[in-house]
Amino acid sequence: MSEDDAFVTAEQVRKRLSISTIVFYGFRPIGERTLKECARLGIRRIELLESPEQSDMADARSMRHVGDICRSCGIEVGAYHAQKIGFSDIDSEAGRVARVDRCRREIDTMLDLGGVVWSSHAWLADATLLRSYEELGRYVEGTPAVVAVESFGSKGVAVEDRVAFLDEIDHPKVGMVLDIGHGRNSNGENPMTLPGGPTTVLELCGKRLCHVHLHGFKDGTDHHPPFSEGDSIQWEELFRMLRAVGYTGALNFEPVGEPLNSGALEAVAAAPERIAEMAAQAP
Ligand SMILES: [Zn+2]
Repeated sequence: MSEDDAFVTAEQVRKRLSISTIVFYGFRPIGERTLKECARLGIRRIELLESPEQSDMADARSMRHVGDICRSCGIEVGAYHAQKIGFSDIDSEAGRVARVDRCRREIDTMLDLGGVVWSSHAWLADATLLRSYEELGRYVEGTPAVVAVESFGSKGVAVEDRVAFLDEIDHPKVGMVLDIGHGRNSNGENPMTLPGGPTTVLELCGKRLCHVHLHGFKDGTDHHPPFSEGDSIQWEELFRMLRAVGYTGALNFEPVGEPLNSGALEAVAAAPERIAEMAAQAP
């Protein structure tokens, strides 16, 4: 990892800090007020969560408008998260081609806005998904973008299944979003809350990891603000392992905001100091 990619000091972390717009989802529209609030708190990068009621990620004009607002507020768009896109419901080649075409148009508008990670929920890793992601991987060759599938908890879409799927594609532009709240071991526990868990999971991800969804976990539920009271994520080990595997992507937080959680933005804004403190205390 080069000095540019390091995230040991608070300033280095802040450079890579990002927040998902899930923090405003269903509560506040993405616009000047919300984005300026992020910028004021020192959060200058977002992952745009697909929110069709507000904008169409496949429509160039719609997204240019979003891009203009972001720029005027001092916010960079780092990633798109196409939460509604999967491939398991497709029953014809024409349907598959149309779905891939939509993904391409989303990737085009993301590149236009300066984003570099396009991910979907992807659902089951069947032949349709494999072929589609192979095509998307080829589509982003020669661009700064990568395309990714997110990890979930159930069989077929858990980290080890995603890694097997990505190994089959074996393309440097196709990777995984590790969501640290989704995984469960055979006892139903989130491995990221157990000492040694982040090491096992990050070693498993290895070079396939290209993006992260970070959030707090408590009382068996995810998407809480990070480092909040009762949060049981093994944060110190997690960040130590992200460094150890040479992770160079954004430190992207994905807490749900109001009305479930108050203070989510502030918790993410405080993350650089917390992460730097943990780095200083690490063994
Ligand atoms: Zn996620």
